[in-house]
Amino acid sequence: GTIAVWFRKDLRFHDQTALAKAILALHEEDQIIGLFHLHPALNQTFSPRHDYFYATLKSFVDDGKELNFPIHFMHGNIFSALDDLLIKTSDLEALYFNYDEVGFGRERDDAVIQHLNSKDIAVFPCLDHHIHSAHDILKADHSHYKVFSSYYKRWSKAEKPKIVQVDIDKLKKHAVHLQRKFADGEQVYQELLSKRITQWEHVGEQQALQRIEEFTTETIDDYHRKRDYPALQATSGISAYLRTGQLSPRTIFYAALDKIQGRADCEGIETFIKELAWRDFYNMIYHYYPKSKNEELIEKYRGLTWNTDDADLFKRWTEGQTGFPIVDAGMRQLNQTGWMHNRVRMIVASFLTKDLLIDWRKGERYFEERLIDYDPASNIGGWQWAASTGTDAVPYFRIFNPTRQSERFDPNGIYIKQYIPELKNVPVKYIHNPITMPDSVQKESSCIIGKDYPKPIVDHRVMREKALELFKESTSNG
Ligand code: FAD
Repeated sequence: GTIAVWFRKDLRFHDQTALAKAILALHEEDQIIGLFHLHPALNQTFSPRHDYFYATLKSFVDDGKELNFPIHFMHGNIFSALDDLLIKTSDLEALYFNYDEVGFGRERDDAVIQHLNSKDIAVFPCLDHHIHSAHDILKADHSHYKVFSSYYKRWSKAEKPKIVQVDIDKLKKHAVHLQRKFADGEQVYQELLSKRITQWEHVGEQQALQRIEEFTTETIDDYHRKRDYPALQATSGISAYLRTGQLSPRTIFYAALDKIQGRADCEGIETFIKELAWRDFYNMIYHYYPKSKNEELIEKYRGLTWNTDDADLFKRWTEGQTGFPIVDAGMRQLNQTGWMHNRVRMIVASFLTKDLLIDWRKGERYFEERLIDYDPASNIGGWQWAASTGTDAVPYFRIFNPTRQSERFDPNGIYIKQYIPELKNVPVKYIHNPITMPDSVQKESSCIIGKDYPKPIVDHRVMREKALELFKESTSNG
């Protein structure tokens, strides 16, 4: 019979649970096919995130071709597409995929399992996207954790899943082309590829594996000391690989852990592994709070009266034109590259919610459109953390001062200058708060504030007080 593997955000051939299990299940006379579903909505909204995703998909499909393992494209309504698959492969025995525990994917997967079971097709949903999935790390009474520190204590002690070996030789032997192809799916795939505009430099499984190897050999030892400084390339830069599944979280985990041997100082490695646990933590939280993309996790903050008269302020934030250099540099990095440094994500998110009093959901959506590593669980987690509405979030009265953050984490303004060319001649003394430049210095640095670079669009001290009031009001109502 035929065994099918449906790929999604797991575009790789190494350490791939669904693929490995499907291959293992093949008998001598069986054949295996690869599938990808092109959701109709993708044809209507094409964002930088999609642009990156399709570059990855193409790289994966091309790698598949090299192995003689073609990927077939289903298109349109998923249930009709699957029914069509059943007609095309009259002997389909089983479908394997890596189950999504959150959001849209979870709903789709649950519905698909039901649909195919009703047609007597065996479905094998595998858990693959995290080191520990949502139900792995629970309290003794089987309830879930809400605070990261206690979650992490348990997480670090739990036995870790092994790397999954994929039998590529066996795959090659059993891989087939569908006799009756999904002609329209192939056409939609080509159309989507033709919409792409960016030549992404670092795409593909081999590059991804190389990146984690380089990071864990060369950079990881200083990770805990340098990770907060956006001008340094001190983080791994693997988030987009993880998001698209070009890298497996287990492979990353062991790449880091294996380096502990022989090291006197393991703090960098330990801090890095802790970040992988944050990723698992937020997946767990989103799994247990499926409404959290739209709803505050802390109940008493569900009625916060965000500033709704905000169109211009929001636009200035998205464009990196707020007059706060560290915020603007972050937003421009995001717009130009599809990625932003973690410390700066925290700063811009805090600025939107606490300095502009704009609803965190608007920021979450903007990141969704732009980030090539957009991951709903981590993004919602990050935004609700910054907005002080999440579980284990920053308390509302600890408000970031964007200028202090800038002085502390980009002391020489190197990151700022990289993304804001208008400020490139501004002396370091004024780089964090350019409005304080005397007129003569503005002239000398060819940067007239209010003309070449904007004045601050809000007064941090005033907005800070307003933010405190907003939360206090809500607390006393709740
Ligand atoms: P490294 O520092 O090298 O970390 C390694 C990996 O650990 C990351 O790739 C990521 O998978 C995980 N990780 C690190 N920090 C976090 C964290 N705080 N939460 C969850 N996982 C983490 N990360 C995303 O992958 N997608 C998002 O959409 C996303 N949105 C965010 C929004 C906000 C407002 C904030 C504050 C953070 C967000 N993060 C998101 C988390 C973090 O900023 C990125 O994972 C990190 O910057 C990616 O770069 P890196 O791979 O070099 O990270």
